Amino acid sequence: MLTQSPLAPMTTDMTTELPVKSRELQTVLAHLPDPLIHTDSQGTVVWHNPSASQFFTGLESGRNALELIDLPEVRQAFEQAIGGDGQQAVDIKWGGLKRRYLNIRLVSFSADRTADTSELQVLWSVHDMTAQRQLDKTRTDFVAAASHELRTPLASLMGFVETLQGPAKDDEEAREQFLGIMAEQARRMSRLIDDLLSLSKIEMEEGDSPNTIVRLEDVVFPVADSLTLTAKERGIRFVFEGDWKAQVIGDKDQLGQVFSNLIENAIKYGHPDSTITIISRPYADDPHLHSVAICDQSPGIAPKHLSRLTERFYRVDKARSRQIGGTGLGLAIVKHILYRHGGRLLISSEQDVGSVFDVLLPHPLNETQAAL
Ligand code: ADP
Repeated sequence: MLTQSPLAPMTTDMTTELPVKSRELQTVLAHLPDPLIHTDSQGTVVWHNPSASQFFTGLESGRNALELIDLPEVRQAFEQAIGGDGQQAVDIKWGGLKRRYLNIRLVSFSADRTADTSELQVLWSVHDMTAQRQLDKTRTDFVAAASHELRTPLASLMGFVETLQGPAKDDEEAREQFLGIMAEQARRMSRLIDDLLSLSKIEMEEGDSPNTIVRLEDVVFPVADSLTLTAKERGIRFVFEGDWKAQVIGDKDQLGQVFSNLIENAIKYGHPDSTITIISRPYADDPHLHSVAICDQSPGIAPKHLSRLTERFYRVDKARSRQIGGTGLGLAIVKHILYRHGGRLLISSEQDVGSVFDVLLPHPLNETQAAL
């Protein structure tokens, strides 16, 4: 509800300094996305913008804001604001089911510069910090998860060092075996650090989209070549189908990383002695996108996991992923690279048949393609 602006006396005072009429000012304030409430020194609402009543159900002129937002920390900040401290800020949690984190700033001012404190007014400006809080929490969770992932191989390494310094000091056979395990744990830590660094580099570049044009055969074939030996060890062969002369807009190195992560996964999680089919074709549902689908033959992935696979450190089977050298970051890296490219990753899977990881990338404009 928008009632007549109580800020009018203040603007009358300010018109000598600002070329803003009170009605215009009222319109501007009413359109502010952040909630704004104007109360008197008792907390009685004189005016508020529409956004404020969306946050605080029941807020209306004449109602006491301190009773509506009935929290001791708000009352204390309010009293300090009118008690001479001028400006106060307080963080609160607000709402039941859809809880929000709000930062409320309380600024006391005098409508008339010559007036005494009984005429003080208070402007409440509210800032919704929920998205920021969620981002902070995601970051904290990520740091905790990354530390945990690093701590596991580190603890194992330290255990072996102690054993080699103590009980197994003179045991030649145990030393050989333990050094092998230690080397593998060190490699795991190194892979994890490489993936963490890749992820943070990709995130930093996310706002800056690539504009170079690459031919898919120049990106995918070298990656497949470099993985042929690993695939052969499991009896897996590659089959290529579709149009490999097709072009997409992209950063060749980053796209190489996308296909390397996906083909490596298809090898790791596919059945031994199976086929990985990689198909390049225009994406049927959007003429601006081209699809490269990596189809494996494997036990498949249960539907409940599909939407979470690209989360950092999410694995269907943690122990198996670790055992085969996974970091749990490969698909998160793929997702972020594709974001930067204006592309997408579609994942589908059929139990006992296999999974399809479909990379969608933007086509170059036809004119640009013709100019090449
Ligand atoms: P990881 O290093 O564990 O492979 P990724 O981020 O690459 O991490 O993949 C996350 C999880 O997704 C894997 O742990 C695995 O459970 C699942 N996954 C990825 N690719 C496949 C696939 N081709 N077939 C079955 N499961 C897969």
